[in-house]
Amino acid sequence: MRGGPSSIRVSSEQFSGIRLELVLRRQAKDAIVNETLRFARRGLETNGMLLGNMRFNSGKGILFCEVITATDSGPFAEHQPGRTSVDTRYQTQRLEEAQGRNLSMLGFWHSHPRYITEPSSGDHISIRAAAMPLYISLITTLQSGESVPRLRGFAFYFRQDGEFIRRQLDIYMEKANGRFDFFDAAKATVMKDV
Ligand SMILES: [Zn+2]
Repeated sequence: MRGGPSSIRVSSEQFSGIRLELVLRRQAKDAIVNETLRFARRGLETNGMLLGNMRFNSGKGILFCEVITATDSGPFAEHQPGRTSVDTRYQTQRLEEAQGRNLSMLGFWHSHPRYITEPSSGDHISIRAAAMPLYISLITTLQSGESVPRLRGFAFYFRQDGEFIRRQLDIYMEKANGRFDFFDAAKATVMKDV
């Protein structure tokens, strides 16, 4: 995944000592599932933007990254089995609309059709180049024989000593009844309402 608008919203902060958790709202989850399936059936990668908010609970030492909605890839993204480009103009327009609703860009999601839900070396390069204080990356995959994608979440940031850090995210996914299921970061979460 390459390109895309950038957005610097969080001041330089030390993320190393705090817990990071991802909250995925249903609207975002549904958008990601639909867009993943649209291209995974043809074995192609796709992507979109993650829009929402971050809030820090200082008492618990947890930074909640709440993804309220997610975009599709837009009409001019190029889709291949192993990579996809960002439709920068489309995503920039969608970001401006979202900012009007006080949402920020938290990062991007993209699919890895039929292979493991780990960021690739190319993903690391493009995420690093985005130079966001904290970059949320969600990766979906559709494993063979399955009709619902799986999801994993990662956060990337530069530590104060300059080291580029990748951490897995625990995920709270909103169900149809408005409650949340908790998923351990190490497991690929099946994206269906349970
Ligand atoms: Zn990737």
